[in-house]
Amino acid sequence: TSRPGPDLDQLADGIRRGDRAMLARAITLVESRKADHQEAARQLLQMLIGETGRSLRIGITGVPGVGKSTTIDQFGSNLTALGHKVAVLAVDPSSTRTGGSILGDKTRMAKLSMDRGAYVRPSPSAGTLGGVAAKTRETMLLCEAAGFDVILVETVGVGQSETTVAEMVDFFLVLMLPGAGDELQGIKKGVLEVADMIAVNKADGEGATRARAAASEYRAALHILSPAAADWTPPVVTISGLANEGLDTLWTEILRYREATTASGRFQKKRADQQVHWMREMILARFHERLSRDKTIRDAISRLEDEVRSGYTAPSLAAAEIASLLSL
Ligand code: GDP
Repeated sequence: TSRPGPDLDQLADGIRRGDRAMLARAITLVESRKADHQEAARQLLQMLIGETGRSLRIGITGVPGVGKSTTIDQFGSNLTALGHKVAVLAVDPSSTRTGGSILGDKTRMAKLSMDRGAYVRPSPSAGTLGGVAAKTRETMLLCEAAGFDVILVETVGVGQSETTVAEMVDFFLVLMLPGAGDELQGIKKGVLEVADMIAVNKADGEGATRARAAASEYRAALHILSPAAADWTPPVVTISGLANEGLDTLWTEILRYREATTASGRFQKKRADQQVHWMREMILARFHERLSRDKTIRDAISRLEDEVRSGYTAPSLAAAEIASLLSL
């Protein structure tokens, strides 16, 4: 069922012009599991690589209910009003595991979905977290080539998704709830380590005082748990996504971060390191794919796992046997 669509040159040109239909087609190629689509996506990304990298990539996380979609909808709208072109992407591992998605439903971002300066794309749903993240990274590059200069990548605080998203963005924002004491207990230390800023949301009405109290607790926790870099100390701010309060500060802080880390050289180094890291991950993914595709190897692994489990074969010998099957 291969209808003749636009060829890759037409797609690339369309994307460069900021044509949304072309961008959507290209993202479909990136997300496809068909080998010929993936090959086309790779070629397209290579054609566009000179036009990528010109955005500010911002990751946003927080537990369900913290106000991610409310805040992104408002924050994104503020940015398009300033003349920015904003793409909102999502990495939602739950959609992979359960078939249901926590993120990415366009109706969650009513304003941005209608905004001509914005592009909202739900999480790719097939595959492992690594697979979903890989597709989101490539979609991010396509969006950059299409002229989006702010990319917001949303994720839930599930499993490793925060770390994975932190590894694909320039700046990682963690949203928190006002109820300090108990909340603090529940924070994963890993999240504080990757946070470039914490924003306590719902700092409005009755919540304002509690939000300020929570902010000072998070400030103290950050101070203890994560040693600040020489060029940046993660600020803790209070915001209200709903009332559009503090979101201007959010943006000012992000710009200040870019300025400070560009001056120190860390901004560029982090991106370059991320690129190499993606490449390594994709090589490993290829190896895994190779292992699981080949029936001989699959069977051998399954047999050797039993032998290793029962203590009959040493793990190192089992690994060597698989390596020899792969002619390594
Ligand atoms: P998400 O699951 O993190 O995307 O959270 P939502 O954006 O869907 O918000 C969850 C609930 O919190 C909704 O009922 C929102 O209206 C509410 N909410 C979000 N942001 C704020 C805020 O800044 N202040 C208040 N009071 N409520 C908010």
